[in-house]
Amino acid sequence: VARVSARRADLDPSLERIRGGAPAANPNVRRLAGFASVHECPTAAVAFAARVDTNRALKGTPYQMPFGQSPFAIGRGYAFEKLLRQHGHAELRAVLREGTGFDFSTAAVHNLRDGFPLSTPGRTMRAQVTRDQLRQVVTHPDELAIVDGAILPREIGGVRVDFEADELAIGIEGAVLVGENKSWPVVDGRPADPDALGSALDQSATYVLLAREIVADEGLDPSLVSGDALLITPRNTGLSPVLHRQNVESRVSRIERLLEGVPQVGDITRSVPVDVTFERVADMNLEADARIDAFADLTDQVGRRYEAGSCLTSCGFAWACRACEFADAAPSLAGERAARAVPSIDRLDRVAQLGAGAPPTAGEAPVAQELARAGRLVDEVFVAPPRRRRSA
Ligand code: SF4
Repeated sequence: VARVSARRADLDPSLERIRGGAPAANPNVRRLAGFASVHECPTAAVAFAARVDTNRALKGTPYQMPFGQSPFAIGRGYAFEKLLRQHGHAELRAVLREGTGFDFSTAAVHNLRDGFPLSTPGRTMRAQVTRDQLRQVVTHPDELAIVDGAILPREIGGVRVDFEADELAIGIEGAVLVGENKSWPVVDGRPADPDALGSALDQSATYVLLAREIVADEGLDPSLVSGDALLITPRNTGLSPVLHRQNVESRVSRIERLLEGVPQVGDITRSVPVDVTFERVADMNLEADARIDAFADLTDQVGRRYEAGSCLTSCGFAWACRACEFADAAPSLAGERAARAVPSIDRLDRVAQLGAGAPPTAGEAPVAQELARAGRLVDEVFVAPPRRRRSA
C-alpha cells in the first residue's frame, strides 16, 4: 500500500484558511488522475490546491458520495503486506526470484519503514537513502538490493509531496524496477477488478517517472529505471504472492503530462476572494441544509463547471453540484453538448422560453434564432394531431 504525504511546512497558510477544517487529502495518483478530468472547474481546482478531501467534506449530509475500501479489503491489504515482510522479507525475496529469475535470497533489504521518525525529517532521511540506493545501480550494477518503503519526493503545483513506493528492486539486468503490492486477487491470470489494475499500473508509472527524475538529477541516465513495473498480488483467493511484470511506458508519458498540468497553488489562492473557505461546508455541527447552502455560495463565488460525465466519476462534490445545478435549472443538466450550444444562457427555463419564440436580449441573440427554429420543429413532431371522430 503506497502512501503520500505533503510537507506541512510547505503548505501556504492561506490554503489552510481555505480548507477551514475540512478533512484533508493528499494528492495521490488516483486523486491526480481524477483532478485531471475536472481541472477546468474552479471549485475543484481550489479544493485540490487546499487539499480538501472532496469525498469527506460533506460527510453527514445526503450529498456525500460513497467512497473508500471495505474493512475486509483493508484487513486483507495489511495481512498481505505483513506476509511479504515477515521473516526477513522471505516471501518478497521468493516472489522476486520466481518472477524475475534473479536470486534475491541474499539481496540487501533496506527497510525504510522501520527506524525512521514519521515526521518530515524522517521522510527526508528516507528520501536520501532512496536516492543513494538509486545511484547504486550504476556503481554496483550486479548487486541486487530491495528498498522497502522508498520515498520519492516531487513538487506538485508548487507543493513538495513525498510519494512512498512499496519497493524498488535494484540490480535486475542492471536496472531499477518499481514494485507495487496489491492485495486483490488475480484469478487464473486475470485481476478480479480491472479498474484496480489500471490504477495500480498508474501508481507504478508515477513511481517510475519520479525515480527517473531523481536519477537524472544525479546526472545519470534515467533509462536506468525500467519502464517495466512489478505488481505483486495474491494468487487466486489465498494470500500466496505472485509477480506480474508489465510495461507502463505509455502511462509514464501520460502521468508526466498530468503532473505538468496541475495548476500552481499560489496562482489559485491569489485568484479567489479572501473569504472563500470550506469551513461551513464541512462543519458537522450545522444542519445539512446550511452546509449545502454554504457549498452553493462557495461555488457561486468561485465558479463551477458541472459536466455530469466527468464530475460523477472524478469529484466527490458531484452530488452536491448536481443539486446546485437543479436549483439553478442549469443547461448543463441537459448534457455537455447542449450546454455548449447555449453558452450565453444560464437557465433551462430561459432556453424553453426562447424556444417558444420569446424575444431575445442582445446577449441571447446569437442562439435565439436556432432555439426558435428547434422549438417549432419540436412542436411539429411532438404536438399530437387532433383526434379523428369515430363514426357512429
Ligand atoms: S463536481 Fe462540482 S466541484 Fe467537482 S468538478 Fe464538477 S462542478 Fe466542479
